Amino acid sequence: LIRTENLSKSFGHLEVLRDVDLAVKKGEVICIIGPSGAGKSTYLRSLIHLEEITSGKIFVQDKLFLHRKHNRTVHRVPADQQKAMLLEMGMVFQRFNLFPHKTVLENLILAPIIIRKKSKADAIASAAKLIERVGLSDKTDVYPNKLSGGQQQRVAIARALAMEPEIMLFDEPTSALDPELVGEVLAVMRDLANQGMTMLCVTHEMGFAKEVADRVVFMADGMILEEGKPKDLFENPKNEKLKNFLKNVL
Ligand code: ATP
Ligand code: MG
Repeated sequence: LIRTENLSKSFGHLEVLRDVDLAVKKGEVICIIGPSGAGKSTYLRSLIHLEEITSGKIFVQDKLFLHRKHNRTVHRVPADQQKAMLLEMGMVFQRFNLFPHKTVLENLILAPIIIRKKSKADAIASAAKLIERVGLSDKTDVYPNKLSGGQQQRVAIARALAMEPEIMLFDEPTSALDPELVGEVLAVMRDLANQGMTMLCVTHEMGFAKEVADRVVFMADGMILEEGKPKDLFENPKNEKLKNFLKNVL
């Protein structure tokens, strides 16, 4: 569904990503783990074009979306297709970025109406289902500041889903939450995975990664140093940096 080849990104002289090759297949759940500063967020942000990569290729649905070399664009799909391809990806960030002056329902229907050109009635009907799915039916008309962090993050997930993406990208969606609120957000993510959603999750929740991921990717120093099935990676890590990392987090 999404694939990168030799994806590299520098901020000035700082090389943050080096030749990252990763392919996410339809229905697959991949968790990216790794120390702070490894480049995990930059990688996700590059996929949705929030960062301009220095070099490498990004494919979406097997179509070459972007090819850059030495900070110059070799190939980029035309703007109209670009938009459509970006809409295949929904992203949830570390900090909830809901519209503060809109209710939960309004947060969910805005983009589907404006960007997906849905009718208001359709958008409301789908939003109501999503709100129920994340367990917040009683909060439909509430403003974000009246919600707990965990509830806000569940709304953020529902809002991304409202755009009907093919893949969901999560960047440490629980790391800004109080510990007692982490579980409810992970539960929503687990349900999504069980329902077959394709997911690429940066997480420091090793329990979640172990249980839900089809594949775990360990990133450090801007490179993928090891990847594999969760059981193999957690129980029999080979890379020294991964061993150290696991020692510190488990
Ligand atoms: P964390 O686990 O702390 O979220 P991360 O793996 O997500 O870490 P990134 O946020 O991708 O790491 O950052 C990777 C490196 O890139 C860091 O050294 C960071 O300082 C640097 N970096 C990120 N964004 C920028 C930017 N806009 N300008 C300059 N340097 C940046
Ligand atoms: Mg990060």
